Amino acid sequence: MNVAAGFESLYGAAPDGIWAAPGRVNLIGEYTDFNDGFVLPFALPQATVAAVSRRDDGVLRLHSADAGGGTVRLDAAAPEPPPGDWTAYPAGVVRALREAGHPVTGADVHLASTVPSGAGLSSSAALETAVALALNDLFGLGLSRPELARIAQRAENAFVGVPCGIMDQMVSACAREGHALHLDTRDLSYRQVPFDPAAEGLTLLVVDTRVKHALGDGAYAERRAGCEAGARALGVRALREVDAERLPEALALLEDDRTRRYVRHVVSDNARVERTVALLDAGDVRAVGPVLTEGHASLRDDLRVSCPELDLVVETANAAGALGARMTGGGFGGSALVLVEAGRAEAVAAAVERAFAGAGHAPPAVFPAVPSTGARRL
Ligand code: ADP
Ligand code: MG
Repeated sequence: MNVAAGFESLYGAAPDGIWAAPGRVNLIGEYTDFNDGFVLPFALPQATVAAVSRRDDGVLRLHSADAGGGTVRLDAAAPEPPPGDWTAYPAGVVRALREAGHPVTGADVHLASTVPSGAGLSSSAALETAVALALNDLFGLGLSRPELARIAQRAENAFVGVPCGIMDQMVSACAREGHALHLDTRDLSYRQVPFDPAAEGLTLLVVDTRVKHALGDGAYAERRAGCEAGARALGVRALREVDAERLPEALALLEDDRTRRYVRHVVSDNARVERTVALLDAGDVRAVGPVLTEGHASLRDDLRVSCPELDLVVETANAAGALGARMTGGGFGGSALVLVEAGRAEAVAAAVERAFAGAGHAPPAVFPAVPSTGARRL
């Protein structure tokens, strides 16, 4: 994929520069980011590459090698992408920057990505972050990485209409190779935690189930509303303030079973992030496996955002000798993570593939996740 050549053949001149921003997986801490909680994602080597030139005539031209269709030409001052079109993501970034007072006067953009789209690996944040970083550099905006992540999140929330948290954009903007990002979503403070499974003789597999269940569409907003109701009932601003040690007392105060389950998931998964970070700091990466499996059970039974394909990955991988496994991302399809001794990775992957074939599911895509670098100018 030669993004510069693609740009030149589209727009008739070389781009001013080329930027890349990665997709991600979240090691642990799911549905915690809209509860002011902790998350522990890392960046993948798969990234969205943006070739971009600055314009000063109010014209915004957008093209993606991955989307069918030609170049979309919009007014940079008030971009109105066709309804449901992918161009809402980059146009949303331009809009969010302008709303924040940054004079983005136009651009030519050509994108190409190696992040699978809709697999729960955050191709959307990769796209937003690559475009945000490019515009930051080309217009000399001087925004910090967390500020760019906020802009990218605002683009997706306000312009695309997806009420996502801040995790994906933060890790795409801030990740460091060989590390996971221990992020406090309350104030965006973070610490790079060394995490290099290969150096420990381990493999962390991503299993993209290649399914997406329609059920998931309204589920995110419903879980979010349920968590907010739980926080209100407990008299806290966000569920992050509920101490895991006092969880039984908090649960006893809740009448509604559904709210109780959601609170139990968020509070316990938040604690699992902290346990995982302590294990990584202690160099005990193998012990993270059972924490992953515990997290999966909580997502499956309490938050109820898993699906048969994700459960099958986790059960099969663990039965085949993995150290632990869980769904990652929003659920209802998408991807799962499997932590396994490097020498057993192939056998575990083969067991999952056999189980999928046996259940009549299409073959999953399986690849090792290597903690990689965040957004950068190439
Ligand atoms: P995920 O972020 O998990 O991959 P989303 O549904 O949040 O899934 O985002 C996927 C959407 O983002 C796609 O349907 C498309 O609109 C847009 N998108 C992502 N990457 C690209 C790309 N390289 N080119 C065009 N659109 C893209
Ligand atoms: Mg997304």
